[in-house]
Amino acid sequence: MTVLPDIKNFINGRWQPAAGQFQPRNPATQEPIANVADSSEADIDAAVQAAREAFGSWKRLNPTVRAGYLHRIGDAVAAREQELARAITLEMGKTIGESTGEVQKLATAFHYYAEEATRVNGEIIPNDTDGFTSMVVHEPIGVVGAITPWNYPLELIGWKLCASLAAGCTIVVKPSEYSPVSAAALFECIDSADLPAGVANLVLGSRGPGPMLVAHPGIDKLAFTGSTATGTAIAKNIPTAKPLSMELGGSCPMIVTDKADVPMAVKGAARRGFRNAGQICIAINRIYVHQDVYADFVDGLTAAVAAMKTGNGMDPATDVGPMTTPDGVDKVEAHVKDAVGNGAVVTTGGGRVASLAPGNFYEPTVISDCTPAMLIMHEETFGPVVGIMPYADLDEAIDLANGTEAGLAAYVYTQDLAQSFDLGRRLDFGNVAVNNVDAGIMNAPYGGRKGSGYGYEHGKEGLHGYLQLKHVRIQHGA
Ligand code: NAD
Repeated sequence: MTVLPDIKNFINGRWQPAAGQFQPRNPATQEPIANVADSSEADIDAAVQAAREAFGSWKRLNPTVRAGYLHRIGDAVAAREQELARAITLEMGKTIGESTGEVQKLATAFHYYAEEATRVNGEIIPNDTDGFTSMVVHEPIGVVGAITPWNYPLELIGWKLCASLAAGCTIVVKPSEYSPVSAAALFECIDSADLPAGVANLVLGSRGPGPMLVAHPGIDKLAFTGSTATGTAIAKNIPTAKPLSMELGGSCPMIVTDKADVPMAVKGAARRGFRNAGQICIAINRIYVHQDVYADFVDGLTAAVAAMKTGNGMDPATDVGPMTTPDGVDKVEAHVKDAVGNGAVVTTGGGRVASLAPGNFYEPTVISDCTPAMLIMHEETFGPVVGIMPYADLDEAIDLANGTEAGLAAYVYTQDLAQSFDLGRRLDFGNVAVNNVDAGIMNAPYGGRKGSGYGYEHGKEGLHGYLQLKHVRIQHGA
């Protein structure tokens, strides 16, 4: 019999069990992978108290000293790259190559924010009266509560953690119930960097701890990434006014114009539609293709997707791993059924992978001849499926792209420079990528608008989300 590892909370610099436990499962096999702490109100309270106590001295540390800790954690993450990557693949299914890439970007984030920590400048501003000086200074907000999803389990913790710590905040992290093992492995890296006790705390659990953290009066800022439904519920239920950042769901459009390099567009759609089994907030969901290049695009994407190998993410030959949750597969199935029932055409895929049962596998799927009313063309499917429809008029395609509640990311393929700038300006999304599918770079603000949330990660804007301003006006003249 396999003995499962015990995964504990990390509170006040120590690994601590909780009263309860739960067992997450490997989505490729449905086997339990660990006994994980299921935190109670008392555990959440202990973590928040530890973060409050640590805040006083952490915020007063010289930023260069805080930067040193962040560099050390980044080095520890890089040194344990394979261990962290395997933990990600084991619990949420993405391919080992994708997990390795995620860990590499996580290490970069620690080093990036170590540098940003030393670049927080205030200013001296003109005064209305002689003999006075006014300073505007930045101060850390306080204790951050971070609630994160499973799809990029380490990067999404990492962005909040790096920016909070760089700003001088302390933090309590509550990762998804589907990704506790990789979170604990990251905190082992933090532990090895000898961060002062209480500065970064980890509380694990199934559905209970998220609401408990949201409701805790000792949290000064809540940083949430997850679905629009959960984010909206949290924003309604938060007990006292406090800063929130919300990185919510997408339903990301791609426009392929008649001036596009079609093979290049196909490559982009195959990558951003199907990486991580399509479970990316910025995944391409719905594709609008000019009628003159429609047939070429559909044929090209169908061939590229049909060639993808589905399987266990631990196998280096796998292109598309399992979906993380059984509910996710049900949602994909419902979206495909809705599209087909309303006249769309499945050009490849279109069903569960029976040979890989009981894993949560769904075939990489392309659906052509879609219409705007189909679920796949206006709701986030969050699986390995894209819907495509033709258009005749570019203004109409832009209206369709902008015409949902989603405002996270949009993609354009065109070789026409004027069209690139025009669409970059007119698409109502926080991130627009033209002739590429990688809008998120570390030094540019990353965030959504409309139903996709508010607040920014990455860049100096990501750090400023954890800072508050103070005006100090000093009279020094008569
Ligand atoms: P989810 O909303 O179900 O869960 C996210 C987190 O919230 C988890 O830790 C969960 O335990 C917790 N939670 C659930 N209910 C809660 C409640 N009532 N109070 C407090 N916490 C609660 O989302 P998910 O399924 O884990 O993640 C997928 C979603 O996340 C997708 O919609 C995706 O688009 C979105 N996402 C957005 C971004 C972004 O940057 N905008 C990035 C990644 C994922």
